[in-house]
Amino acid sequence: MFWQKEIETIGREPLEQLQLERLKQIVRRAYKNVPAYADKFIESGVKPKDITSLADLGKLPFTTREDLRENYPFGLLAMPKEQIVRLHTSSGTTGKPKAIFFTRKDVDQAAELIARCLVMTGTKKDDVLQNIMTYGLFTGALVMHYGAEKVGVLVIPAGPGNTERQISLMQDFKTTAIHVTPSYLLYLANVMQKKRINPTRDLSLKRAYLGAEPYSEETRKKIEESLGIDVYNSYGLTEMNGPGVAFECKEKKGMHLWEDNFLLEVIDPETGQNMPEGEVGELVLTTLCREAMPIIRYRTRDLTRIIPGACSCGRTHRRISRIIGRADDMFIVRGVNIFPQQIERVLMGVRGVAQNYQIILESYDQMTVMVEIMKDIFDGSLEHMLNLKSDIVNKLRAEILVTPKVELLEPGTLPVSEGKAKRVIDKRTL
Ligand code: AMP
Ligand code: ZN
Repeated sequence: MFWQKEIETIGREPLEQLQLERLKQIVRRAYKNVPAYADKFIESGVKPKDITSLADLGKLPFTTREDLRENYPFGLLAMPKEQIVRLHTSSGTTGKPKAIFFTRKDVDQAAELIARCLVMTGTKKDDVLQNIMTYGLFTGALVMHYGAEKVGVLVIPAGPGNTERQISLMQDFKTTAIHVTPSYLLYLANVMQKKRINPTRDLSLKRAYLGAEPYSEETRKKIEESLGIDVYNSYGLTEMNGPGVAFECKEKKGMHLWEDNFLLEVIDPETGQNMPEGEVGELVLTTLCREAMPIIRYRTRDLTRIIPGACSCGRTHRRISRIIGRADDMFIVRGVNIFPQQIERVLMGVRGVAQNYQIILESYDQMTVMVEIMKDIFDGSLEHMLNLKSDIVNKLRAEILVTPKVELLEPGTLPVSEGKAKRVIDKRTL
């Protein structure tokens, strides 16, 4: 099933031709209309006319989130303000937010990309999509909402929270698809279990679109099994419209990145050089269609790799792997680089472990993993608990090469986030 078959299955050669034309145009517009870009280009000694092939992309300077913050609020606009119809921001953790603007055409184009994603995974007009992401300045909910309406789906703008109401909405309106963060869905699944709701018997759910934060293949499997649905990975970021940048097809073997809209690079974060295809590095994206606010060579800080080879679904847009982590999420204990993702992967693969966990960094050489476990284990024998704990410690040590402290908690002890989960508490920097 395709939304725009011609462009989704376009040959690589015409695709690259199209990319080059769009790149030239976007570079010219940025140079002409955005003084901050013109300054950057001049500093790097590059002019729009120097871009004659896609290989010339490397001549252009990177854009970082600091550039976005420094030029907040209007500094990177390439269109007069009266052409702008929408603002979104991304707060991040420190400093000023990043502001992103859309013209009417930009809003429509972002919705087209979502429509491709939904149709690619089997969503049709007769589906009911419960949108459990946060509505507001955050792109997650609204961009998905417009795309789903374009397909003709009935959208329930539920937003997150009020878990009991989420469940009754699903029951009353026969929700077939949900759009939600993995951490909140895990929590929802837990509440359903407590309320003795059998998802396959009592609900009409068929698929979930999960994104906005990293999660592992183990978490996907856990959710698919417990809810009896298909889970598709959805990747996006505010700077690139929000959701709809890259999305899994039915094969679930990586996310197709819509290359007619975004130029894709994977670079070595240290040197800035391109990684050989298939190797992990930082994802760098260039908007090819955006009118209001073109962004050139944006350093996403997200680590991924290009999956080599063609996908059997017939789409020619290359796939990226699940996000392995953010360059900023990495923390160091005893001199070892660790990503929260590694811990999650281990935890979600251990029987008896429930949904929620948190990593506490206490000192240079000490970390504690707090993990909720299934109620029957928690209420069971002490021996069982001790065995589970040492099993987790051993598996974590094998993965991260550091021996953490592990604390087992009753389900429901750790805070639940409705937006992005905060997995790491670094007491060393508090
Ligand atoms: P925001 O701009 O607030 O929407 O946040 C975007 C960031 O969320 C991305 O740069 C990623 O770090 C993260 N993110 C979004 N979708 C995913 C996903 N499917 N898997 C992992 N991380 C994701
Ligand atoms: Zn595919």
